[in-house]
Amino acid sequence: MRSWEQAISSFLHTFRLDSIKSKILVFALLATLIPSLITGWLSYVHNKRSLTEKITEEQRNVTSHTAREIDLWLKERFYDVRVFSSSYEVSENLEKILQAPRTSIKGVRALRRLNGYLNSVREKFIHYEELLVIGPKAEVVATSAGQAAGVNMPRNWLKEARKDKTILGHAYWDKTLKKKVMMIAVPIKAAHGRFLGVLAAKVNFRRIDEIIKSFSIGNTGEVYLITKDGTVVISSRFTPSPLEKTKLAAETVRTLPAKEPISLEYTDYQGKKVVGTLKRLPLLNGGVVAQIERKEAYAQIARLRNLTFLMVSGLLLGIGLTAYLLGLTIVRPLDRLTRGAAEVAAGDLEVDLPVVSHGEVGYMTEVFNHMVAHLRQGREELAAINKTLSEKNRELEALSVTDGLTGLYNRNHMMETLANETARAQRHHHPFSVLMIDIDHFKKYNDSYGHLAGDAVLIKMGSIFTTSIRSVEYAARYGGEEFLIMLPEAELDGAIEAAERIRTRVARETFSDGNEKPGVTVSIGVAGFPGHGDTPESIIASADAALYEAKRSGRNRVVRASNSQGEKTRTFG
Ligand code: GH3
Ligand code: MG
Ligand code: MG
Repeated sequence: MRSWEQAISSFLHTFRLDSIKSKILVFALLATLIPSLITGWLSYVHNKRSLTEKITEEQRNVTSHTAREIDLWLKERFYDVRVFSSSYEVSENLEKILQAPRTSIKGVRALRRLNGYLNSVREKFIHYEELLVIGPKAEVVATSAGQAAGVNMPRNWLKEARKDKTILGHAYWDKTLKKKVMMIAVPIKAAHGRFLGVLAAKVNFRRIDEIIKSFSIGNTGEVYLITKDGTVVISSRFTPSPLEKTKLAAETVRTLPAKEPISLEYTDYQGKKVVGTLKRLPLLNGGVVAQIERKEAYAQIARLRNLTFLMVSGLLLGIGLTAYLLGLTIVRPLDRLTRGAAEVAAGDLEVDLPVVSHGEVGYMTEVFNHMVAHLRQGREELAAINKTLSEKNRELEALSVTDGLTGLYNRNHMMETLANETARAQRHHHPFSVLMIDIDHFKKYNDSYGHLAGDAVLIKMGSIFTTSIRSVEYAARYGGEEFLIMLPEAELDGAIEAAERIRTRVARETFSDGNEKPGVTVSIGVAGFPGHGDTPESIIASADAALYEAKRSGRNRVVRASNSQGEKTRTFG
């Protein structure tokens, strides 16, 4: 399964088509383009074929019609000339002219009569420009024109005429007439069959011009006669003068008759691209061509091509746009999902993606939002648990260092603080002092007023001590009704002063729980570093000894611990 997926992906990757958007776009464009092109091509081929057939049909009609008409006309002319030549007027007068000297009366008369005949005939027929009688030595004997112009006859016309054949000359430009003409000649014979000469007619192209102009094939259509070598004799558009170069290319002259009567594409004598067909005219030794410019012939196809191009462009645009928008509706939510996932991965759980689409991507977005909501809830719960834990920890910590009844530090904490202070004092060579305080006759107090009243006294002691010391000093409950106060940086004398202040304050204090109670007194032993030891234990022992001394010597007093010499200092209330 994976191998074909990989193959397709790497193929798409080479064309930079990795994104969904471009895949959809390319698919949509191909799905539009391929069928459109195939349909367009098929319809082009079909249209071109049927159009070519139509053109061929049309042009074949024109050429065969034209050829038939020209053929008929030409045969009529042959017939005419034969009739003229066989006239008695012609043969008799020609014979007379040939026999008698021209200057003789007989000769002159015969010539006049012959000329008169030729003139009268020519006037009756519009097809002839000039009628001539040519003698057996190729000399012009008589002519309908006042003056004999040049005669353009084919090379071996005389030989042909002697064989009693009709001679058809090439079309040529007559300089005198300024017209295109063609010679038709037939032999003139004497009554007993002797060859006397020919009657030649200079035929104009008026009728042929009419015939070829009678067909119209489109705006650019043209019908024309060509000779065997491709020279244009006369066209429905113009009559070529001798100066004009009007000849089809040799290649066209070869292929047109070969494909007759099918229409072909070729370049005409003016260099225009045309579609045309040829019909041979054996009698004229040439052919008739009908053609139309290629552009006009296939205008319908060009229109169809443009229309197809427009339609396909429109389709491509519309479908491309739709595909692009569709792609966006998939890609944008996916992009949002990717960005959202990246934000979640970076620790931001406040992500909430908009669910704008339905279907798979919309569902995926909902699942993602749910997942993030769960994570968020989990984190909140965890935070709450952490908060509770740290509060509890703080409470525990506080509890671990505090005495529950008095709110003073407990013995453990005081011992720790004392150890730290001893180390610090040793390091910096600073003094500190401790006060060991014990309530006098407290057992009796308890016994007299009850344990609760005793507790109240202990609580009061706590508040007296905390309000009597500075913030850097520590008061702790050392035991049942014993307290320890540490005064950092304090020399022994200062400590004794502080102890005395506390003793007198306690002694002045009144106690009441609704009923007036008698006050209590305290005894205080004072010791200091470095005078009474360099460990917490030795200093406490010294202070304790001083306290014991205070009790022994009457209570409600402050006693300075004895130094190494054993001297004691007492103060009394
Ligand atoms: P003195 O110190 O003056 O020699 O006499 P005393 O009666 O105070 O003797 P001692 O210090 O030995 O007595 C301690 C008494 O303190 C015992 C006990 O009844 C009382 N006591 C200790 N802890 C508490 C306590 O938490 N609450 C109460 N109410 N009394 C306590
Ligand atoms: Mg005691
Ligand atoms: Mg006591």
